[in-house]
Amino acid sequence: MTLPDPHDALAYLAHAETLLICMDFDGTICELRPDAYAVTPDPRAIDALQTLAGLPGTSVAILSGRHLDGLRRVCPLGPPVALVGSHGAEPTSGGPALSADDRAYLDAIQAELEQLIDAHPTPFVESKPYQRVLHVAALAETDPETAASLLQQALALPTGGRPVTPGHNVVEFSAIDTTKGTWLAAEKTRFAATLFAGDDVTDETALAVLDTAGTDVGIKVQRPSSPNDTAANYQLGSVAEVANFLTALAAARQSAQA
Ligand SMILES: [Mg+2]
Repeated sequence: MTLPDPHDALAYLAHAETLLICMDFDGTICELRPDAYAVTPDPRAIDALQTLAGLPGTSVAILSGRHLDGLRRVCPLGPPVALVGSHGAEPTSGGPALSADDRAYLDAIQAELEQLIDAHPTPFVESKPYQRVLHVAALAETDPETAASLLQQALALPTGGRPVTPGHNVVEFSAIDTTKGTWLAAEKTRFAATLFAGDDVTDETALAVLDTAGTDVGIKVQRPSSPNDTAANYQLGSVAEVANFLTALAAARQSAQA
């Protein structure tokens, strides 16, 4: 699959009357690392997003699968940039309440996952407000077959129909139905045009709510290991290419408004 380069849409985005720029974090504006907290986002992407957030008619959001506190630890952006965690379930204020059933489900999944990885020292289960996440990135570096097998076994756990999402060396179990797509669909109604970029399976829910035949621009950050199916209408090849594009967009939108 090869999609066009989004520089083709630069003039359109520069002139959109109101523009929402929504970026995934990991793998999109920040390189992936086995230690998820030993990361620094691309400083050029950060500069460009800060510039864009200061322009009239322009809003910027970072929409991450990390829980909000974890996102704040690694992302230096703040108001007027909106940080949104847990795939849209944790906006900077508010978020859904969990029922007793939801909490019991998260406890049960956590216990199952911990049993699954009991014999392996590096995999771990992350506890987020609405999700439990199995992480095998460190094991995948030394023993990719075992890491893949653990992910497969996790994906086979019964969830009673609750959402399960595979990702890059992770599987996430959620107690709630909020996705990046439900968050973005609600948020984007206030804007004439929306730009979203993401690299992973969960980002497809957001790409799928875009009007890519009309007002919106969806960018897939395509790595060699990425699945080919995407709802995006453009692609870039790396975090550095996303930073280049955002830098060009900031300059173009600044001069369009000058
Ligand atoms: Mg990502």
